[in-house]
Formats: sequence, C-alpha cells, structure tokens
Amino acid sequence: LASLDAHPEPSVIEISGVKVGGGHLGMIAGPCSVEDRDRMFRIAERVVASGANLFRGGAFKPRTSPYAFQGLGEDGLKLLREVGDKFGVPVVTEVTDPRLVELVAQYADMLQVGARNMQNFALLTEVGKSHRPVLLKRGMSATVTDLLMCAEYILSQGNANVVLCERGVKSFDPATRNLFDVAAVPLVHGLSHLPIIVDPSHATGRPDLIPACAMAGLAAGADGVHIEVHDCPEEAKSDGPQALLPDQYDELAAQMKSLAGLL
Ligand code: PEP
Ligand code: MN
Repeated sequence: LASLDAHPEPSVIEISGVKVGGGHLGMIAGPCSVEDRDRMFRIAERVVASGANLFRGGAFKPRTSPYAFQGLGEDGLKLLREVGDKFGVPVVTEVTDPRLVELVAQYADMLQVGARNMQNFALLTEVGKSHRPVLLKRGMSATVTDLLMCAEYILSQGNANVVLCERGVKSFDPATRNLFDVAAVPLVHGLSHLPIIVDPSHATGRPDLIPACAMAGLAAGADGVHIEVHDCPEEAKSDGPQALLPDQYDELAAQMKSLAGLL
C-alpha cells in the first residue's frame, strides 16, 4: 500500500486542515517536551509567527534513563491542545504505548511514532486503527525498506494518513548525534507516494548544523522540516542542547520558505 505501484501520485496528507506532501510543506516546530504553560505559549507564538504550520511537543517522552524527565502525560496533552487552539495550529505529539493511543488521539491532531518505537508493531497496529494522521520516524538503525514496511503496518489497518520522517541514523562518528541521511528523501520518493519530512534537530543534535541540513533536506525534495525550538535551551527538560532559539528559527524559516519558492 505504501508503494508507488499502489498509488502512483504523491499523497497529500491533511492534518486538521494543514496539507503535507505533493508540494505542500509541513513546517513542524516546537520544544522537545511540553513544559510549563507560559513557556509553551511563548514558543508557539514565535514559531507560528515565523511560519510553522504544525506545533510539536512531547507529553510522553521515550527517555534513555528511567530517572530522566518522562513528560507531563495527560496534563501535557491538555496544554498542547490549548496552545494549538489558541494559535489555530494543529498539534503533533508522540505516543509511546499502544494503550495510550486513544488518549493521545483525543488531544492531538497528529500522532508521532518515535524512532525508538518504529518497529513496535503493536503500537503501529493501534495507530493504524486511529483516525488521526501519523508521523512515523525512521528508527536509528532502520533501513529505508524497514521504514516503509512499518508504514505498511499502519496503512494495512485502514489509516492512509502517514507522513515519514528521516531523523538520522547511528554512525561511528560522535561529532553529530546521528548521521543525517539526506539520500533517504529521494530514495523514499522513488519507492513510495507517502510524504517524507526531515528532522535535522535529532539528526545532528547541533544547532550550528541544523540550518544547512534543513535546507539540504528541502533541496532533496523533503515535504517538510521538523525542528525543535526552545526559548531557554539551558532550562529545557529534554534536548536543550539541540534547540534553536526562536530568533534562529525565524531566520531559518524565512530561508526555507524562499528555497521552497524556487523548487
Ligand atoms: C522527538 O521528536 O522528540 C524524539 C524523541 O525524536 P526521535 O524519536 O526521532 O528520537
Ligand atoms: Mn527531542
């Protein structure tokens, strides 16, 4: 179902009125984690003014350590929903457990399946039964074929609204958090009708490298760009070191929009 044989034209996925794919760019921005209320409103106001058309924030966080901040849970979902309604922007948030899909789908416009859960088949089956669009991130050691087969799990349950995301793969070089595989973008477009966006934040883990990788992703044909933004990265509950400041996002968003206009 994910292949071009099944559907030769690029799919356009609609997320509560915002289209991604087939020439429509998804500009996803927001903090890694949903945090306190004032901060969420502040960040959202800035990124939406810069042109973000989808707002993100994790309420259920898949953390390496069980002692690290795990997210605000349902309170975080409520806050995210409030922010989305206030700024008129659909919200994207991660769901980490099949038992949480129904709850998360009550609040979020788009369900994110993170890299660590790409092959959580029970989760894929459950989001496949949901009516919400899904952002499926590539696993850090997954091939592009693996990614497409995981999309197949969702599509085969009846949910046709899947957007893929290249977020970097493990490499031998600790200079960057992951290795940004920009070739995955045209590779997917040659195999599948599904939109694919890039996430240079998790791919590089470095604010200084994010703009070049975002632009490279768009030049390669990406259907959108996912970027983490925080107004005080030192205080962030997760992924602070890779966050762009709102001013930096504003500058990059202007560059992305002008590049997209040329493509
Ligand atoms: C995230 O989007 O905050 C996240 C955890 O991403 P990934 O699953 O790509 O690591
Ligand atoms: Mn993150």
